Amino acid sequence: MLALREALQIWYSIHKRDLPWRHTQDPYAIWLSEIILQQTRVDQGLPYYQRFVSNFPTVHVLAAATQQEVLNLWQGLGYYSRGRNLHATAQQIVAEYNGVFPVTYQQLLKLKGVGPYTAAAIASFAFDLPHAVVDGNVLRVLSRYFGIDLPINAAEGKAVFEYLANELLDRHAPALHNQAIMEFGALQCKPVSPNCKWCPVSDSCAAFKENKVEILPIKLKKTKIKERFFVYHVIVNQQHRIAFQQRGPKDIWEGLFEFPLREFEDQQKVAAYLHNKKTIGRPFKHILTHQKITAHFIADSDENWPQYNFLFLDFADLNTHPIPRLIDKFLDTFVQNNSDVKPAQ
Ligand code: SF4
Repeated sequence: MLALREALQIWYSIHKRDLPWRHTQDPYAIWLSEIILQQTRVDQGLPYYQRFVSNFPTVHVLAAATQQEVLNLWQGLGYYSRGRNLHATAQQIVAEYNGVFPVTYQQLLKLKGVGPYTAAAIASFAFDLPHAVVDGNVLRVLSRYFGIDLPINAAEGKAVFEYLANELLDRHAPALHNQAIMEFGALQCKPVSPNCKWCPVSDSCAAFKENKVEILPIKLKKTKIKERFFVYHVIVNQQHRIAFQQRGPKDIWEGLFEFPLREFEDQQKVAAYLHNKKTIGRPFKHILTHQKITAHFIADSDENWPQYNFLFLDFADLNTHPIPRLIDKFLDTFVQNNSDVKPAQ
């Protein structure tokens, strides 16, 4: 344990990336970075982090923002429920803790959207408390180094890896240790093609010695992907504004704005519905974690939707309304091919 712990810290001192959230012990900034990095890779998350910190420099400012302002910045990160949680958590910290982040692991865990990993990250990075972080990178390093073939996403495996991570933790330098093992997993012991040839711990790595690097860690298969079939109705009025409606609760993209939508059970029903209708471009495929969406877009008129009260937006307004990535992608193509509808210059 000691040798691995020391090797990780030496490796980290040489190879670590210079990232803004590593220069601060402000729990608010650390929390922001952790929530964003749950969604995306470091290089893609960095501009989001910078935008959030500059638009909402304190938890008070974030709490006072509208949900729409927060979701606009969140746009493109997916899992909008996490964007909403981020906002709700800021409000919770202001309401319950007077804007001061809680300082213990147990209190941090009570915050909305903060699970064991994020609580351990904030507790160690901001307050130097001895809590081991256990994310995908850490699980991979532990599984390979110790040669453990228990699934990392099943209860028994989780318990074993959590125990090991806490045994390995350097209690005198928990922040440094946690950063080191996560960075080692991200850059050296990568999911694909880990750099075993130049690895400082290859001599004692079980997976390397037993030729199991490619098969570890073990992960149980995910739940089945659900297929969904959308037909979006693109309605442009006389003023060249486009009709939008807001999505309701208990489904993907809650609270986001999209075109009037009809959903069908399968592609056959879509084909029947599209008969004699004017489609725009090819259908778009959009993959989410547990859903695969095929979206068709058709030109339509609001006269066909008399009972609906749509929100008509022009392109200048679109920046102020959060929209799903799928609609965003469609609009990029649509604008290029439609001279009537252009973003404001
Ligand atoms: S030898 Fe390879 S598998 Fe083992 S810890 Fe190093 S990089 Fe990871």
